[in-house]
Amino acid sequence: MSALAKNYNRRKIAFKKGKGSFLYSTNGKRYLDFVQGIAVNSLGHSNPYLIKEMYKQAKKIWHVSNAFIIPEGETLAKRLTKKTFADSVIFQNSGAEAIEASIKVARRYFYSIGQAKKNRILCIKNSFHGRTIAAINASGSKKMQEGFGPKVDGFDHFKFGDHKSLKKAINSQTAAIMIETVMGEGGIKVIPDWCLRELRKICNKKKILLILDEVQCGIGRTGKFFAFEHAKIKPDIVPIAKGIGGGFPLGAVLMTKKVASGMIPGTHGTTNGGNPLAMSVGNAVLDQIFKKGFLKNIQKISKYFYNELNKIKIDHPKLIKEVRGMGLLIGLQLFNDPTKFIKKLQDNKLLTIRSGENTIRILPPLNVKRSEIDIAIKIIKKVSKEF
Ligand SMILES: *Cc1c(COP(=O)(O)O)cnc(C)c1O
Repeated sequence: MSALAKNYNRRKIAFKKGKGSFLYSTNGKRYLDFVQGIAVNSLGHSNPYLIKEMYKQAKKIWHVSNAFIIPEGETLAKRLTKKTFADSVIFQNSGAEAIEASIKVARRYFYSIGQAKKNRILCIKNSFHGRTIAAINASGSKKMQEGFGPKVDGFDHFKFGDHKSLKKAINSQTAAIMIETVMGEGGIKVIPDWCLRELRKICNKKKILLILDEVQCGIGRTGKFFAFEHAKIKPDIVPIAKGIGGGFPLGAVLMTKKVASGMIPGTHGTTNGGNPLAMSVGNAVLDQIFKKGFLKNIQKISKYFYNELNKIKIDHPKLIKEVRGMGLLIGLQLFNDPTKFIKKLQDNKLLTIRSGENTIRILPPLNVKRSEIDIAIKIIKKVSKEF
């Protein structure tokens, strides 16, 4: 009997090691891992460079309090701001923490300019921003909130794709609109570029901040460093996590100088967040992702993957409803519940994970090889034939 609480319905499989795109189970089988810890192991398992950089740091210093200057964090923050819209960074340990901090940054900004009443956050109904009390209330999901009352005030919601309901939901108290650029848990639904541009315009007009949750879709996943870069817009606040740590727990909030101005000493903190060990791994991940041609290759290789998946869709028009996503954040939407399909893929040694709306999420590491994609395609083809 497991001593772990039952808040997860775990698959009956455990792994003893991983290498690149592959996982090796305790019972001696090799799996192609296109889950990668849910877009966390951005550079695959046991990446030699990440191991080397982590060891180097581990021998020097793991943790010091944020009461002191942490040079590794200064470096990582500089690199993140140099490459993006942001001027300023707060490090955290996870996505949900980054979301919480983003909400605090938005509210504190308006407070600091004498508009404390402007404090409500507008989100997409049934979105996903993590599992803390604030994050489940931001999601507007009854299921995630069930049993965790009282409801936390301060969040309003609009329906995905319903621009009328969005405009109606904005009022004088709206501080920020917070959405995922690509809805990772919600069925790999991409917010179209023109929508993002429109959203930016609305925010400018109404003096509202735009928070883009890039916890899952950021850090190169879509073939640009941030998914919103495809739309050529600039948000005000961006929570990140998952991929930036490459498997090491690491989250952050990126923001403009303007909104960061509210975060004066004492307004926010974390004990572990931004420690030298995490920062060194983050820097090592960026060393790889910022390499010339790395992001371009994601665009190229993912295009190949979509093409092949679409061929399977054409051959199975009653099984596969849509192939969608951006870069290596891929959704294969079936007409019916995908549980059995996912299980069959696993039986054939391909690991994938479900998302909302009957969608199977396919998340290769960002340095996946074409030959590995070919293995996946072969398995998906085979399983499709069995349905
Ligand atoms: C995973 C995720 C979160 C929460 O991150 P945790 O590290 O699990 O707390 C928040 N937002 C999005 C879009 C995510 O995919």
